[in-house]
Amino acid sequence: MGIRLGCIADDFTGATDLANNLVRAGMRVVQLIDVPDDGDERAARQARDADAVVIALKSRTVPAADAVEASLRALAWLRSTGAEQIYFKYCSTFDSTPAGNIGPVTEALMDALGTDFTVATPAFPDNGRTVFKGHLFVGDVLLSDSGMRHHPLTPMTDSNLVAVLGAQTTRTVGLVDHTVVAGGADTIRARIGELREQGVGLAVVDAVSNDDLVRLGEAVRELPLVTAGSGLAIGLPANWGLKSSAAAAQLPPAGGYRAVVSGSVSVATNGQVREFLDSGRPAFSVDPLRIAAGEDVAGEALAFADAHLADGPVLVYSTETPDAVRDVQGRLGAAEAGELVERTLARVAQGLVERGVRQLVVAGGETSGAVVQALGITGLRIGPQIDPGVPWCAATLSDGDTLHITLKSGNFGGPGFFSESFALLEAS
Ligand code: ADP
Repeated sequence: MGIRLGCIADDFTGATDLANNLVRAGMRVVQLIDVPDDGDERAARQARDADAVVIALKSRTVPAADAVEASLRALAWLRSTGAEQIYFKYCSTFDSTPAGNIGPVTEALMDALGTDFTVATPAFPDNGRTVFKGHLFVGDVLLSDSGMRHHPLTPMTDSNLVAVLGAQTTRTVGLVDHTVVAGGADTIRARIGELREQGVGLAVVDAVSNDDLVRLGEAVRELPLVTAGSGLAIGLPANWGLKSSAAAAQLPPAGGYRAVVSGSVSVATNGQVREFLDSGRPAFSVDPLRIAAGEDVAGEALAFADAHLADGPVLVYSTETPDAVRDVQGRLGAAEAGELVERTLARVAQGLVERGVRQLVVAGGETSGAVVQALGITGLRIGPQIDPGVPWCAATLSDGDTLHITLKSGNFGGPGFFSESFALLEAS
């Protein structure tokens, strides 16, 4: 069976967010890190076993031409797997500039798919993002009154999405407003028909509740392309007769040794490391100054792991309090310190997996990127949620073995996150 929904996400965490919503709505989902290379059989095999594939790009703030090129490559790959509908996922705060990239990418996908119409809605009511009369609200305030006004790369100073999108595209932009959405899928479809006749190519759609997104999901069933934040995901699986169920998040059984690699220095991770140390479990601290002095810190960490993995989980961490981090950054430079630590932890992760670790928790966004790259992971099957937005995933290693891995951004999770993660995997 081919995949049903092929998704193109403009950044990595956004891709995870979408994947997570799709799993919760009943789809088996694989998230791919960038477009697979030609002949990447591992990715193709993983994708064939899923209802939806989400390709994570880094196209949100790159030049529009590059974002278009990457998105079209992703589209071609997804179509080669038989994807029946394409979902272009952007941020729920519609992060973009008059140069793009939401408009140009949408248009390029429409052209490639040969379609003259699609919808656009960043609404995600569960996260406080709602669209009313075409205006995007963040919590109780308009987008233009929110912190996004001052975003360094994509400052959002206009909440009127019809105008914002209109400035980014050559197509006419229209609106499907709340009264229409409230009328249900048939009413939405009728309105879409009218807009199409008027030459509208892109319609911003209001949604202030999950019910609105479910109605919209049903209404867009026949469209080759939808564009949205991650919210619309809740309304699409039903179009293939899929319902929310624990089976969608089922991963292969977990085995092997357990380890945590933590390069996050955020408050939540500091609490998690503290709790792990307090519980008396084996932990090895990575000191950036010793790495900078040329000592084989990764080798020491792995020797420590050799002695303790059988009584694991083992923690290898560079996590420090903000003061200690500032001190190290003052001596080495922030970028240099970060890179040294990332490289060391990535080597440690590689060594741990070589030693038989098959359940790995990684803390830190940048750290996760480095670890995933070092392990040669190109795809992740999305499993059960440990915490909102943080699922266990299954990756296929180059030798065909399964690695259970979770990638936690710094500030996610409560103090017991590490032990809870392993307990959840054991129970599932
Ligand atoms: P988070 O998700 O918490 O932001 P990241 O992994 O994205 O975590 O970022 C943390 C950054 O800090 C990484 O570049 C990491 O290498 C760096 N880092 C980790 N530990 C230390 C430390 N002890 N001193 C200085 N920099 C560190």
